[in-house]
Amino acid sequence: MAKFIFVTGGVLSSLGKGITAASIGTLLEARGYKVIIKKFDPYLNLDPGTMSPFQHGEVYVTDDGAETDLDLGHYERFLNSSTTRDCNVTAGKIYYKVLEKERKGDYLGGTVQVIPHITDEVKNSIYSLSEEYDIVIVEIGGTVGDIESLPFLEAIRQIRFDLDENDVLYLHVTLVPYIKSAGELKTKPTQHSVKELREIGIQPDMLVCRSEYPLDDSIRKKIGLFCNVSKNAVINAIDASTIYQVPLLMNKEGAGRFILNKLGLEERELDLSVWEEIVYRIKNPEDTVTIGVVGKYVGLKDAYISLTESLIHGGIDNKVKVNIKWIDAEDLETQNPDKFLDDVDGILVPGGFGERGVEGKIRAVNFARNKDIPFFGICLGMQCAVIEFARNVLKYDDAHSTEFNPKTEHPVIDYMEEQKKIKKLGGTMRLGAYECKLTEGTRAYSAYKEETIFERHRHRLEFNNKFRDELVKAGLIISGVNPERDLVEIIELKSHRWFVGCQFHPEFKSKPTKPHPLFSGFINAAYKFSQDKSSIQESEK
Ligand code: GLN
Repeated sequence: MAKFIFVTGGVLSSLGKGITAASIGTLLEARGYKVIIKKFDPYLNLDPGTMSPFQHGEVYVTDDGAETDLDLGHYERFLNSSTTRDCNVTAGKIYYKVLEKERKGDYLGGTVQVIPHITDEVKNSIYSLSEEYDIVIVEIGGTVGDIESLPFLEAIRQIRFDLDENDVLYLHVTLVPYIKSAGELKTKPTQHSVKELREIGIQPDMLVCRSEYPLDDSIRKKIGLFCNVSKNAVINAIDASTIYQVPLLMNKEGAGRFILNKLGLEERELDLSVWEEIVYRIKNPEDTVTIGVVGKYVGLKDAYISLTESLIHGGIDNKVKVNIKWIDAEDLETQNPDKFLDDVDGILVPGGFGERGVEGKIRAVNFARNKDIPFFGICLGMQCAVIEFARNVLKYDDAHSTEFNPKTEHPVIDYMEEQKKIKKLGGTMRLGAYECKLTEGTRAYSAYKEETIFERHRHRLEFNNKFRDELVKAGLIISGVNPERDLVEIIELKSHRWFVGCQFHPEFKSKPTKPHPLFSGFINAAYKFSQDKSSIQESEK
């Protein structure tokens, strides 16, 4: 049976509980322990799949096709272990299970209640996977004090008594704000948040205190005293310039050692050199490239978190800093694209749903194709590339995706057959990892350097094979195909410096320790393009 670390959050949201969980996971994994992280979300949706990115940020997809919270993306980027659908559980999922059991008659004669039925189901879910790992880290979504998260907190409270004392560690993430007018760091919000936790029966073993400035010894002592923990259980998580520095900072604070000690696990040799190298690369780039990302949710960075991180990873691999220029696709519909795209070294059109901004994305593709600017289209971005090509090369003016124009005579992107019958929206897309065979001699092949790859999907529509021959004849390259169903997965352009569109989401598989080949290839092309541009400017002087 694994050891358990429960991560709760206090004071306010967005304190980086996910990054904290991922970072302590990293410190334990780097010592050779097998670690997995799970997230429990207190809302009632079965999963975030039907929520707008404006509500919930990005929907992260696992290999086994679950639509999950974006924190799972952090877990996978930091750890070697892959998350599965068991790693993200919402209150809705728990209630659904309990109600299904009730209808089956499993509780016959009993009154079904939050305690013990809901809490038991939460505990079952926490214990699943515990045979396969040494340590299971469980992050509880929301902030302590929310009504919604109470059943989860009650379940983790009970676990202290179900298991041995050294099998369980409670870690609470809080904020120690700096108050300018007083010129001081304040501990009161932390004290109150821990008090709230203790009122429901949980005494944290360890506090991770976020702060803008370092906590000195006297503040640590004070927090320890008022929160009933030892001084060395107060870990200071000072604001870092890159999230990948957090494991290193937490290590310096002694977080890993403290956890091992509390859980009765042996200290082992620790090697964090890969993380040191990553942070060094991020802080010491040799050059900068600017990537224009043309999307619909650009005002909300959480909506593109895996994408942003993958671009950073591509930068690490090429020793450059990636500067992202966020461009609202709708602006390209009404204004000259030159104004937005003139200075970029690469254009990326990410995935998306709904018609708003689509014409702007198609214009961005057109700009990249005509001006020979490196282009990367992901999911809807790839679909836009196919539409643009059909409209402007094949001259099918009305070419479109049936998602946006169901009556078009040239539906170059169309619903998959099985999707046409689907009535329920939740969990019914083409989801998760599928095989893709690459064609030798293509950009995709030279990026991956292998013939068979597996990539994660989240979409309903596909490249329409009815138009495949025509498009290929006109210069479109099909460089990746799903062998099972002959679905087009990657497209490229013959006479272009780097133009790649993929139907899957490569951003879900990129890690700083293993940058995704397509992101590395794209950044490499953008870097070369920026160098070509500057040598032309030099010679024109
Ligand atoms: N809306 C498109 C589809 O469902 C693209 C989805 C996406 O970009 N993830 O096929």
